[in-house]
Amino acid sequence: MFQGHCDHALLPDGWHANVRLTAGDDGRWLDVQSNVPRGDLAHCGEFVIPGMPNLHSHAFQRAMAGSAERFGRPDDSFWSWREAMYRHAGLVDPEALHAIARWLYCEMLEQGYTRVAEFHYVHHRPDGRRYLPTQAMSQALIAAAEEAGIGLTLLPTLYQRGGFRDEALASRQQRFRCGSDEFLALCEALATPLSARGMRLGAAVHSLRAVSGDSLREVFGASLWRDRPLHIHIAEQRKEVADCLAVHARRPIEHLFDQIAIDRRHCLVHATHANSAEMQLMARSGAVVGICTTTEANLGDGLFALADLRELGGRWGIGSDSQVGLDPREELRWLEYQSRLASGRRTVLGDATHADIAANLWLAASAGGAQACGSAAAGLQAGADADWLVLDTSDPALAGCSTDTVMGAWLFAPARHPPLSVGVGGRVLATQGRHARRSEYASAYRRAVIGLGRKLQDGAA
Ligand SMILES: [Zn+2]
Repeated sequence: MFQGHCDHALLPDGWHANVRLTAGDDGRWLDVQSNVPRGDLAHCGEFVIPGMPNLHSHAFQRAMAGSAERFGRPDDSFWSWREAMYRHAGLVDPEALHAIARWLYCEMLEQGYTRVAEFHYVHHRPDGRRYLPTQAMSQALIAAAEEAGIGLTLLPTLYQRGGFRDEALASRQQRFRCGSDEFLALCEALATPLSARGMRLGAAVHSLRAVSGDSLREVFGASLWRDRPLHIHIAEQRKEVADCLAVHARRPIEHLFDQIAIDRRHCLVHATHANSAEMQLMARSGAVVGICTTTEANLGDGLFALADLRELGGRWGIGSDSQVGLDPREELRWLEYQSRLASGRRTVLGDATHADIAANLWLAASAGGAQACGSAAAGLQAGADADWLVLDTSDPALAGCSTDTVMGAWLFAPARHPPLSVGVGGRVLATQGRHARRSEYASAYRRAVIGLGRKLQDGAA
């Protein structure tokens, strides 16, 4: 059991002084008390904040991050990037996925992501034949998360068709496909191994273009998901909105709400092209909107109007998605910056009661992320996952900071230091900014990526 004392801790209602943190054997906070004398308790640090859940990740894409940044053609877009991603996805097997994900999760932890919701759709061999066991790719992710120590919410993902008009899947998409019954059986087989490791099961539907309304209702309506998280990519691309309008005469978010009851179990990833009626639907539902700022920027998706969702009281969190950015500070900083660029104002994502923009962004994103990961509660409070970060006050960027200024300096100044230490489920996993097994995991990752590069060359030759 972990117990420690810190000078200041960022609790759900703001900073508190002299805080005693006690984690239970179940990996959740048992007790968080402020204004407690330190006594004999171990000192955790000066400023302690909650860990950040990463609500959207495709682990295999880590190995291709940065590889599609050369000029291709004048109409280069999300859709041409997707072809490059498919070529890469076609090469990854369970062994490579394990090495890639384990290093990725180690990197996430070092930057302050303490849990990850893995949106996992690469289920089968490249030609669609099943692995033995069928869930070998899921098992690779579970083993990677267990070894790195990150909290995992695994979201096996349903992917069945090539577009809104029931187009057949292309050959390079065959490894994503599951029948609805097969999919539910795969999910059920994962429930026990996940819970035995303190991990969680949820599910995802890849997108409305990849799954019909009938399958969506059948699979998301299963009793297995009564109190588990359910995710979907919803409105990332303008073409996706146009295709949905052409077939259903409804925009994707409207169409989703027509199909099933959306509530706080749901996470709508990339609601980028929501209009104001759709913003109201999402805010009223209690669902979390998943925003992946650096990926959405990298792919030219568009700007999500977070200020509008905030005004309506909507919930949201952040994800690293294609892994081009692995620092939660970068995701949050650019959410505020894109709001400033679009509005010509400053301090857009704050208000009189939430004047500290950085602390406000951190608390809102960590609460939304916890909900999307299926956590019972969020942040530094009893019942929430016992995940925490200690800020590194040896970073010159934090010199002379108080609780009023430290989050602003950490997020918006050129603060170079990652968190000094990172704890997950009551266990310390990184100290002095480094994961204990980083060099071993980095070496295995290098070998895996070099192997994939050889396969790519052989395929091209
Ligand atoms: Zn995604």
